[in-house]
Amino acid sequence: MLQNNVVLKASHLKKYYGRGESLVKALDDVSLSVSRGMFAAVVGTSGSGKSTLLNMLGGLDVPTEGTVCVENNEIEKMSEENLTVFRRKRIGFIFQNYNLIPYLTAYENIVLPIRLDGKSEDRKFMQEVIEFLELETKMQKYPSHLSGGQQQRVAIARALVSKPAIILADEPTGNLDSRTSDAVVKLLKMTSETFAQTIVMITHNPDIAARADVQIRIEDGKVAGQGRDED
Ligand code: ADP
Ligand code: MG
Repeated sequence: MLQNNVVLKASHLKKYYGRGESLVKALDDVSLSVSRGMFAAVVGTSGSGKSTLLNMLGGLDVPTEGTVCVENNEIEKMSEENLTVFRRKRIGFIFQNYNLIPYLTAYENIVLPIRLDGKSEDRKFMQEVIEFLELETKMQKYPSHLSGGQQQRVAIARALVSKPAIILADEPTGNLDSRTSDAVVKLLKMTSETFAQTIVMITHNPDIAARADVQIRIEDGKVAGQGRDED
């Protein structure tokens, strides 16, 4: 099930903000690689650089130094236009603040990335995802008519239905109750196994981190440890 081919590789990533007295080394020489189908949990205290790392891995921000390779594509070398298309097809993002489009229904939000590529969704898979996330009755609702937890589940469905190679998630269960969190983690594990998707998920929840294949601990902008959890 788990193959050894590296799908995501960061080499000597640095991200510095400010200068002189106010220099912040948000990332300070981070190198890591994640194999296809792996579920990696990124853990560490607040301010340690986790979100900065995730943004670099997804090409949402440019590192001060270092490189990121996604499926052997060096993303710094892509044009802005190619990177946008690449991200939409190969990377699914789940943000803390959902980032749903307010004037589109839940259904329209979920299929938007697929439609932007001129494709149609795998209906059977989409139905499965929607049932798993208990969103069946919410499809025609607008984000403002959904609770925070429901909006987050719509954002998760949107990241999953295009079956991207990599899912990058920044505390996706932070606003969910424990039962829904559990369903989300199950779903992410299920899709990662079924579709050989790689998941990199920032989490503060030790129970969720313990269920990952590998834990990456970030401290002061550096990788302080990477390994399998012994549970
Ligand atoms: P985490 O997600 O682990 O809480 P972040 O990656 O958000 O940490 O932040 C890492 C460090 O970089 C923090 O000290 C934060 O204040 C700083 N930082 C993040 N973004 C910026 C920015 N745009 N400008 C200046 N400093 C920033
Ligand atoms: Mg963060």
